[in-house]
Amino acid sequence: MRIILLGAPGSGKGTQAKMLMEKYKAPQISTGDLLRAAVSAGTELGKKAKAIMDAGHLVSDDIVLGMIKERLNEKDAQNGFILDGFPRNKPQADELDKLLAEFGWSLDGAILLEVDNDQIVERITGRRTCNDCGQMFNIFSSPSAKENVCDKCGGLLGHRADDNGDTIRKRLEVYAEQTAPLIEFYSSQDKLFKLNGMGEMATIFNDVCSTIDKF
Ligand code: ADP
Ligand code: ZN
Repeated sequence: MRIILLGAPGSGKGTQAKMLMEKYKAPQISTGDLLRAAVSAGTELGKKAKAIMDAGHLVSDDIVLGMIKERLNEKDAQNGFILDGFPRNKPQADELDKLLAEFGWSLDGAILLEVDNDQIVERITGRRTCNDCGQMFNIFSSPSAKENVCDKCGGLLGHRADDNGDTIRKRLEVYAEQTAPLIEFYSSQDKLFKLNGMGEMATIFNDVCSTIDKF
């Protein structure tokens, strides 16, 4: 399985990717997670990326493509992957096509999760992530049993630095301008699958799986 999850910030790509990873045994490759890991590790790249991410802008294509190339070369990606948050603009999509051709791989499809804008803001402001295992919660829709503590591993829950009002607005703007055109791009390659991203997580997951099972 080689797929892309497309959708606005907060559309549920990360949540679905984590569930898909368990079911299909393919790694989730999230450029956002890779960048945040570089930020917490305090690498040069992380230092450069942090200010850009906190402002809601896109990190440069060079940085992101370098990370993706390296990641796709790793052993666990050889039989399939779930791309989450990449590609995010047309140049990245073009580079991905080239890269896939070099590997001799083809993409099964790009799955778009459609969610209304006002839902997105609630989802993002309420989002909490476990600092230890990455499990996600939402204080409005799927809170942890104990405030700020992960149900799965007992780790402390954190709030992403870019999940605040101003940055969210900017990220939605960037999505509309730079990422949304990829819907047309994959549609013209007959690779686009649109799904309703609103409602129960499990229902959405079923829809995603039945789309994948038809590939
Ligand atoms: P979300 O999908 O909720 O916006 P991500 O974790 O995917 O969150 O991304 C967080 C931030 O990381 C983005 O706002 C951007 O600054 C940076 N980023 C992630 N992926 C890319 C990418 N493919 N190209 C450029 N910047 C990226
Ligand atoms: Zn945890």
